[in-house]
Amino acid sequence: MSKRIVILGAGESGSGAAVLSQTKGFETFVSDSSFIKDKYKDLLDSYQIPWEEGSHTLTNILNADEVIKSPGIPNNSPIICQIREKGIPIISEIEFAGRYTSAQMICVTGSNGKTTTATLIYHIFKDAGLNVGLAGNIGSSLALQVATEEHDYYIIELSSFQLDNMYEFRANIAVLLNITADHLDRYDNDMQQYIEAKFRITQNQTPEDSFVYWNEDPVIKKELSKHGIQAHLFPFSEKKQDGAIGYTENNKIIITEPIAFNMEQEKLALTGKHNLYNSLAAGISANISGITNEKIRKALSDFKGVEHRLEYVASVRGVDYINDSKATNVNSCWYALNSIKTKIVLILGGTDKGNDYNEISELIEEKCSGLIFLGKDNSKLQRFFKAYNVPQKEAKSMQEAVNIAYTIGKKGETVLLSPACASFDLFTSYEDRGDQFKNAVLNL
Ligand code: ADP
Repeated sequence: MSKRIVILGAGESGSGAAVLSQTKGFETFVSDSSFIKDKYKDLLDSYQIPWEEGSHTLTNILNADEVIKSPGIPNNSPIICQIREKGIPIISEIEFAGRYTSAQMICVTGSNGKTTTATLIYHIFKDAGLNVGLAGNIGSSLALQVATEEHDYYIIELSSFQLDNMYEFRANIAVLLNITADHLDRYDNDMQQYIEAKFRITQNQTPEDSFVYWNEDPVIKKELSKHGIQAHLFPFSEKKQDGAIGYTENNKIIITEPIAFNMEQEKLALTGKHNLYNSLAAGISANISGITNEKIRKALSDFKGVEHRLEYVASVRGVDYINDSKATNVNSCWYALNSIKTKIVLILGGTDKGNDYNEISELIEEKCSGLIFLGKDNSKLQRFFKAYNVPQKEAKSMQEAVNIAYTIGKKGETVLLSPACASFDLFTSYEDRGDQFKNAVLNL
């Protein structure tokens, strides 16, 4: 009898896992407690994969030999508890897909910067002419790519939720950008559990593999020795320091291992301190993979960036407009403010996730010539910034916010959308918020 694989959740990763399972000849069943998007239903149907939506039928699930869980389903949800009680192994889509490919795996995790760094690494590899796929939280799932278009390299963005259910998977290159508190609601409010999840990226690595990480991150520094890491270490830092093999010196990016590399810092396509770290991580990963210095330099300098992350939109009457809608926490807004050299009219607000605005107050006082609060309920922002000597306005729609910014912004200044909040009060997603911003700016 063939092995029965049950996939919970039919989004990008679940439907991809189902296709791979079916093409490998397993008895496959997909169950989603919510509604499945038409495009995924069509995909499942085209492979004759049985599925259900709106509820989980236990008799069709608890007879599985193995369950593949979508990262969106919490570990403590009733269905997962029942599966665990039965002793059925639960794995992630990445773990499953990893069994069926011998490609080189370059995996990126961290609390912030994953998408940017993974996309930048992909850009360098692609530009160098390698047969590479981009997967994980971005683009099409790893499982679907392994099933339908095998590549020699995969650049994989891994969230802590994906890492939670990974056991045998081995990253040839693992990149850990930073660890700051995030998603703690899914880890019993226990930071240590979240840290453990992030460090799972190094499990199963051998001395032939590489671990690239930010040497100055206090959490990474403290935890590094606790995880029995076997991989060769490639630490990077902003400035030269003991042990770091990637850093800046005299306005140059330097990488010392495995191949000596340098490049003018001002040639980097991505600006801001956070992007310096992302560029270093990407450059080191490409260097380890044997891509030539010339190709790395070119790709690091002509990368177009990722939509909604410090994305340049337009210049209107001498004022630059920048879309950083993906800045959904205070930490990423801090990096955005820090990276812009001119005075800033900042549009911020939305669904507050327990934000502490003290983190950005100093930068706001120093750099902002105006604040526009864009949210259904702006009272917390208004209370907090009342004491600050920066002009403040309120808007209830993106159009209104951009119109106000247009009247306040002076020549040579920058209008920045970097909300520090989630988008769900006024928008369907951060992408919707960023798109509305761009449309409003282009209509000025
Ligand atoms: P993720 O995929 O981890 O959510 P993104 O690359 O989408 O990260 O970037 C999200 C936000 O985080 C961006 O708006 C950016 O301003 C900020 N950011 C990007 N890289 C870093 C970094 N290395 N450290 C801190 N913040 C960062």
